[in-house]
Amino acid sequence: MDWRVRFVDYPEQWRRQRAGLLPVIEETIAAGDLMLRHQLRDFETNLARFVGTARGVGVSNCTDGLRLLAHALDIGPGDEIVSVAHTFVATISPFVLRGAKPVLVDIGEDHLMDTDQLADAVSKRTKVIIPVHLNGRTVDMAAVLKVAESVGAVVVEDAAQALGASFAGRNAGTFGLASTYSFYPAKLLGALGDAGAVLTSDGALADRLHALRDHGRVAQAELDGWGYNCRLDNLQAAILDWRLGLLPEWIKRRRELARLYTSLLHDVPDLSIPVGPDADPRRYDVFQNYPVTTARRSELVAHLRADGIETLISWPIPLHRQKGLGLDHLSLPRTERLCREVVSLPLHVELTDDQVAYVAASVRRFFGS
Ligand SMILES: *Cc1c(COP(=O)(O)O)cnc(C)c1O
Repeated sequence: MDWRVRFVDYPEQWRRQRAGLLPVIEETIAAGDLMLRHQLRDFETNLARFVGTARGVGVSNCTDGLRLLAHALDIGPGDEIVSVAHTFVATISPFVLRGAKPVLVDIGEDHLMDTDQLADAVSKRTKVIIPVHLNGRTVDMAAVLKVAESVGAVVVEDAAQALGASFAGRNAGTFGLASTYSFYPAKLLGALGDAGAVLTSDGALADRLHALRDHGRVAQAELDGWGYNCRLDNLQAAILDWRLGLLPEWIKRRRELARLYTSLLHDVPDLSIPVGPDADPRRYDVFQNYPVTTARRSELVAHLRADGIETLISWPIPLHRQKGLGLDHLSLPRTERLCREVVSLPLHVELTDDQVAYVAASVRRFFGS
């Protein structure tokens, strides 16, 4: 397929970053810095500073970050975790695989955890609450923290889509005990492969995670327990550290593109668009995605495709409707409806204003407006 607007444009990304990244890659390889070297420590420090936590732990991917957390928190049978069904399965799978029961609540208009339902879903068995800052938008964390406190649960923020986002002057990822990040290539900050991180301001937890990701190793020959191999690849860390320097600029560009989409699509009948970047001064959303909803989704996707525009439906089947997961006793009407109607339009740093105008014009043509 010859796309006119790709959903993510890796070749264009490389064209723009090649001159800056090649020396970084060259120097790292030439120095033989392949495992747990200063590039990884630098990245952990810089990432933690960027978000505003005391410590950072680089890991192989976000899923493994959650896995190490589930281990460190000693999650097991009899425990419950509370999250949403409109998320990537990795938000909950590491906890379920240790024997915890997943309790999933519905979402609100903004596609994020409904905190009223959260209050009803927790119990004394609730060990962890996992809000997901989906699409670059921060969950109402004051409400989440209040509920967590009422039952003595720990909060782990799935911030895989929200690096750099904030709400009321506080960054996503600094509210809970820990937060997890994905550097999958299509994420806000992407590696050239799999990578992830856990951030926390709890020094003992950070030490534990550092050990767990490297076989339980706390010194050259000393183990403090059983562990995993979930290290963040040092070359990827070097690449990520270089890219982190550009992230504030990239986030600004994402917000500009979201602003443009919003101005071009706000009056299209039968189409719902995200809350724009200027709608709420307390919010700094980073627009990992620009999801729109329509009852005529499959026709819209086909129409855009015919115009050479690539779209993405992240999760057409919510977690509780996945046959293999054993969660079909749940009924989450707003999640189910969203999964039927949502589709993300292309929004990435390399996108031009003209491309956004082209996509918006195609969408408007489809709705006859
Ligand atoms: C991408 C993503 C993950 C998983 O990240 P990996 O690095 O691929 O393990 C988890 N949660 C959410 C919300 C994500 O978008």
